[in-house]
Amino acid sequence: MLCEWTDHKVFGVKDGAILFGVDQGTLFFIDQQTQDVLTRWSRETTLELDDVPQADREILDDLRDARFLAPFGARHRLQAFDGDIASIPLTTMVLEVAQDCNLACTYCYAEGGSYGRPLRLLDPETARQAVRKLINDSGDTETVTLVIFGGEPLLNMPAVEAAVTEAQALSLETGKKVFVSLTTNGTLLDQDIVDFVHSNRIAVAVSLDGPADLHDANRSDVNGFGSYATITRNLEGLLKGATSAVAARVTLKPDQWQRIEEVFFHLLELGFHEVGIAPVSPVRLELLPDAEQEEALLQGFAVLSRAFLAAARQNRLLPFTNLIDLLARLHLGQTKAVSCGAGYGYLAVDTEGGLFVCHRLVGEESFRVGTLDTGADPAEIRRALDEVTCGRQEMCRSCWARTLCCGGCHYENHLRENLLGLAPGGSCDFIRRWFQLGIEVYAELRRSGAEEFLQRLEKRVKC
Ligand code: SF4
Ligand code: SF4
Repeated sequence: MLCEWTDHKVFGVKDGAILFGVDQGTLFFIDQQTQDVLTRWSRETTLELDDVPQADREILDDLRDARFLAPFGARHRLQAFDGDIASIPLTTMVLEVAQDCNLACTYCYAEGGSYGRPLRLLDPETARQAVRKLINDSGDTETVTLVIFGGEPLLNMPAVEAAVTEAQALSLETGKKVFVSLTTNGTLLDQDIVDFVHSNRIAVAVSLDGPADLHDANRSDVNGFGSYATITRNLEGLLKGATSAVAARVTLKPDQWQRIEEVFFHLLELGFHEVGIAPVSPVRLELLPDAEQEEALLQGFAVLSRAFLAAARQNRLLPFTNLIDLLARLHLGQTKAVSCGAGYGYLAVDTEGGLFVCHRLVGEESFRVGTLDTGADPAEIRRALDEVTCGRQEMCRSCWARTLCCGGCHYENHLRENLLGLAPGGSCDFIRRWFQLGIEVYAELRRSGAEEFLQRLEKRVKC
């Protein structure tokens, strides 16, 4: 039988190697013999299996069964999604209830919460209209997600309450489950708001960047006063009696990446249930990292990954969400035909009822795809996403990480390439090394027989 190789990548790990099937998203431990066979034969573009010596043939048959070899001409390659966008149900809506903020964070991508436009709050009726749209456009989807966002959303409690109340009423009426989350800077969390959050089982993400000196250097008010003391005081009430997970949402600048381990454990000590760490978006050129800083970021993530493995050996889940989300996808073999849900079942609504493909692209006119009144125009979604992905397909086609990354975050790409004028691919090396780290951790968990532990992670898979 004439065969050809499907795309794959071999990673050397302790005591052996892992074979990753790019299009299938599969991972296998391979022994030395299999590695040798791969080295001998994988340079051949096509392979006549019947001509292969028997000693290698058995292993090649196993690789064919695992879809690393395909009959010539029948190789499956995961293609970028080009189907009918109109047929995709709306499953996640991000509601910008306040294009305003009481902080003046040094790295803010939303220009002080305003998204570059006059300060404005969403009116409660538009909030209700948005929630109705989410439910009406969700097709057969049983669970939808409403993300309450800003600026600082707690500046506009009337709209928050209107959205949550409408979501509950429609959930009762339709039987759909509405998962509500709220992202806040944490400075305005008084007892009334905390009671509201608890009684409505809202999952809260608080932006907190670590110990006081580090956090306050990033997140102060307009007068330059840090917000750490206020947030940590408010946090106590939020954590006490929490009915949903309270997550820390960390943003770190390149010169802070060497403190990742300290930041993570500080936030765990404060009582957060989950911690996710994001490298800052380079909204200004000086926020672009150099090679040494990128290495520090990766090393920080590697240290947390080792801590994660050590905890897993004791059947404890270290709540490092960056890694958990990646491990869950690897465990499910979940590959991507699009980089994220933006525009594909995921929309953001601004304070005027405008629809955008993603919350981080709110205010960028080329990513406006409709209004709550007219609905999102599938042709506009296609145009907006084509614009931001054009020129990347060629670069990604030959990348082993393409079905995990699929081109990366549109906002980050837009920022780097269209606004800062950088060449595409500047963060690819980091992206691939991060995925490799995740693959190595996953392999280690599998090797240690932590199947039950891995199943616990499945629930975490996101779009
Ligand atoms: S790592 Fe870079 S080349 Fe690879 S898929 Fe992602 S964006 Fe494309
Ligand atoms: S990955 Fe980027 S573009 Fe996609 S939804 Fe998230 S922030 Fe938006």
